[in-house]
Amino acid sequence: MIRTSLLAILLLIAFTNYAQTHGHKSMRALDYPDIEGFKTLKTDLHQHTVFSDGEVWPSIRVMEALRENLDVISLTEHLEYQPHEEDIPHPDRNRSYQLALEEASDHGLLVINGSEITRDEPIGHSNAIFVQDVNPLLTEEATAAFEEAKKQGAFVFWNHPAWHAQSPTGNPILSEFQRDRIKNGELHGIEVINEFDYAEESLALALEHNLTIMGTSDIHGLIDWQYLEKGNHRPITLVFAKERTPAGVKEALFAGRTAAVYNSLFVGREEYLTPLLKACVEITGATYMQDTQILRVGLKNISSSDLIFENQMPYTLYSRSPVFTITAGEEITLQIKTLERKAKITLSLKALSAYTAPAKQAIINWEVSVN
Ligand SMILES: [Zn+2]
Ligand SMILES: [Zn+2]
Repeated sequence: MIRTSLLAILLLIAFTNYAQTHGHKSMRALDYPDIEGFKTLKTDLHQHTVFSDGEVWPSIRVMEALRENLDVISLTEHLEYQPHEEDIPHPDRNRSYQLALEEASDHGLLVINGSEITRDEPIGHSNAIFVQDVNPLLTEEATAAFEEAKKQGAFVFWNHPAWHAQSPTGNPILSEFQRDRIKNGELHGIEVINEFDYAEESLALALEHNLTIMGTSDIHGLIDWQYLEKGNHRPITLVFAKERTPAGVKEALFAGRTAAVYNSLFVGREEYLTPLLKACVEITGATYMQDTQILRVGLKNISSSDLIFENQMPYTLYSRSPVFTITAGEEITLQIKTLERKAKITLSLKALSAYTAPAKQAIINWEVSVN
């Protein structure tokens, strides 16, 4: 009898575990809240497979994306760099996209057709995504590739502008070629975060030239080895879309509604970053500690990034540093010395790792009513 119930319990535990772990979302699934009027989509629009200089088959990229709970990916193979060509002849440059699309079709992951236009500096590397057919982008002259991308309605962004191999200072240099592409409406975005690297100078260029702010992994090996097993997430671009469709993503990218995110680092235009950070924190309650003028406010971080804040209020904090972190998914209680009992206060915090311009961080305000 005891044995039977023990067995039943073990089976129940096993089943519960199975139910929790079945499916493609892993323990490292990424979540970010929607902002008013827009769905927040998690995208990685710069990745490689064996169809250029990557190490994996396209289906692996789909499975990695599902494990991290991404909404949208693009496999952007180098058009002009094909080191596996002898083993994988590659006559149709849409093949990587097609294979990923097939794998993703049952899983709700959106896959966008794209490719990396690959040249030495001063032209550099750029991704053209939302192309119908990649093949005509393989041209002798780089200008022809950009013209073709425009003809197909592609969204084009400048990759790793601060890459030391193309810019030894580690700072992006906007070339005459790129200025002309921007002028012609052939270059629309810029990576401010690529792989592990954030460049404030790239953010400055984005703001100066009205380019969409992007963050991507540019993964060649495995996401797990590069990021997850080290306790990191890949860099992503959050896209604030009117709808979760390829057309919705494209519209949002052209409109510049994005934020680049890498672990606790957020980079984006103030009009999107501020509401995003605000939505990342839920106020779970506000009550005065008994017989005091100390207001206890519960703050829950519902995002997958640790959030680092600095107090901006005219009140100081009780029993906590003015700079503090709310770990992803965790809740803390702030104790605010309001000196007199208030019915409501404005909770005002600077998000120390959320940049809306070089050296400028977002300040987030929450209206808090005391219970
Ligand atoms: Zn590149
Ligand atoms: Zn690349």
